[in-house]
Amino acid sequence: MTSADSADWFARAQAVIPGGVSSPVRAFRSVGGTPPYVARAWGSRIWDVDGREYVDLVGAWGPMILGHAHPSVVSAVSAAIADSPSFGAPCPPEVELAEEIVRRIAPVERVRFTNSGTEAVMTAIRVARAAAGRDLVVKFAGCYHGHADGLLVAAGSGVATLGLPDSPGVTSGTAQDTVVLPYGDVEAVTAIFAERGDEIACVITEAIPANMGVLPPPPGFNAFLAEITRRHGALLILDEVMTGFRVAADGWWGIEGRAEGWAPDLFTYGKVIGGGLPLAAVAGPAAVMDLLAPAGPVYQAGTLSGNPAATAAGLATLRGCDSDLYGHLDATAVRVREVIDAALTSHGVVHQTHHAGNLFSFFFTEHAVHTYDDARQQDTAAFAAFFHAMLDNGVWLPPSAFEAWFVSGAHTDRDLEVIVAAADAAAAAAAAAS
Ligand SMILES: *Cc1c(COP(=O)(O)O)cnc(C)c1O
Repeated sequence: MTSADSADWFARAQAVIPGGVSSPVRAFRSVGGTPPYVARAWGSRIWDVDGREYVDLVGAWGPMILGHAHPSVVSAVSAAIADSPSFGAPCPPEVELAEEIVRRIAPVERVRFTNSGTEAVMTAIRVARAAAGRDLVVKFAGCYHGHADGLLVAAGSGVATLGLPDSPGVTSGTAQDTVVLPYGDVEAVTAIFAERGDEIACVITEAIPANMGVLPPPPGFNAFLAEITRRHGALLILDEVMTGFRVAADGWWGIEGRAEGWAPDLFTYGKVIGGGLPLAAVAGPAAVMDLLAPAGPVYQAGTLSGNPAATAAGLATLRGCDSDLYGHLDATAVRVREVIDAALTSHGVVHQTHHAGNLFSFFFTEHAVHTYDDARQQDTAAFAAFFHAMLDNGVWLPPSAFEAWFVSGAHTDRDLEVIVAAADAAAAAAAAAS
């Protein structure tokens, strides 16, 4: 049998798709080489078109929390699609998914579905500006909130991976409405509110910054943001697109906010709530969310929003997100983290191991990492060597030093054995490269 290999597909892709990919980080620019083209994935494993098998520690960047092609998700989606993938009209599964989210997140009374985290954040910003009657948005350097214009300023994720300055095509007017502060900097936040408090519509933050590597929020920082926004008549948007239903049944808010007695005015969700299909949401109390049309005057819409296939995938996924699953994710995350940390240490590779909940990542630097500037000091060449050795030894990692790693309910002891074996070779490769 002859068939095209990954190199052939990538060559064809580059002729018809900018950079050959549908999302920049997939192109392997920061680690070099040719991205494997994926043929299929099941449970904790991915197979490429070249016939190689990998233990997957990316999980489609978060959605595959139950593992790939989980039978309950596949059958729910198959049944939904058989009745037509989209109606452009109300349907029961969107109601059930919204009810499931409301049931899990105490401060949430209303949910509006979108097709991507980017759209959910765009909507949250628009609602916040309408609610506050102000324009200015405060964000933190290295936090990624999708690719909407006003938030592509000092953003993480692919922007960090590629080392891009602020993106061309974003107007200076748009950029002027965004103030960027160093993450975790209480004094900087206090100062901007003292100076421009009556102009600030909202502060947006990742619940756990995890798109510049994982930065655990300093104790009390999110609570401080909730308090200072409230005091100045601004809103707090807690971006849980990555953390929502990933770190706990009620997201990072459930771990931190509930215990500390604070809540944001708006949440954004994505990734896990679509179970691998395009689906995200903005959510919050009725008083804010009912500003959205047709209940209120703030316009927002979507041809495919809340379609039966995506909402069925999300519902089946959330139904699998029980306390057993979170126990398994937490334990697995600790084991993987410890294996990699030990391998890097034994080969003398300088690094920082960070985690918050079951999200974790490694910074290839001897210096403590508290901000985006710190994160950017790392030795990306050492990471690239580490990454390729892991891939060659059957472990699929994010192709960037600035991304979190993801475990799933499908990871087993067998996967751990593959990771242990690969980690030693990869740490040796990183040591040789640094
Ligand atoms: C992934 C992500 C987004 C963007 O979601 P898309 O579905 O890729 O548009 C926004 N915020 C955070 C925190 C994310 O991790």
